[in-house]
Amino acid sequence: MVSAKVHQLLNQQINKEFYSAYLYLDFSNYFKARGLDGFANWYLIQAQEERDHAMLFYTYLQNENMPVTLDAIAKPDKVLNSDMTVLQAGLEHEQYVTQLINDIYTAAYEVKDFRTMQFLDWFVKEQGEEETNANDLISKMELFGSDPKGLYMLNQELGARVYSAPSLVL
Ligand code: MG
Repeated sequence: MVSAKVHQLLNQQINKEFYSAYLYLDFSNYFKARGLDGFANWYLIQAQEERDHAMLFYTYLQNENMPVTLDAIAKPDKVLNSDMTVLQAGLEHEQYVTQLINDIYTAAYEVKDFRTMQFLDWFVKEQGEEETNANDLISKMELFGSDPKGLYMLNQELGARVYSAPSLVL
């Protein structure tokens, strides 16, 4: 049995992950309008991954016979007024999501909900990777982004990213 508090946090995380997908779609749209299709591709794939995360929480609750309640998805609230602002907003958002995952983990730990902790282990690792990716992108932009040729190359690199389904299967 999942505790009421853990259940509430897991259910809320479905919404948070769909919001993440929505936020990254907004980022992708920003770069598409800028003519930077590679950056747009990178964030479009990021959005697909977030949708996958949402579905993992959704499926986990269903598998545990816990009710799923879907709520309204908030409007993307980041102000996107420069390329670097978008990249920084991405990092801040991932740090926020890491905190959310840690909060659910803490709640599960407190009630010795080992199954939920094991489920969340994948997300703990995933958040480490998400923060690394967001940081790396900022570093590359700082190094190469101010030069048109550098920006062109970086755009090419990000355009090569392909979607792959999450390694966690429920
Ligand atoms: Mg996520």
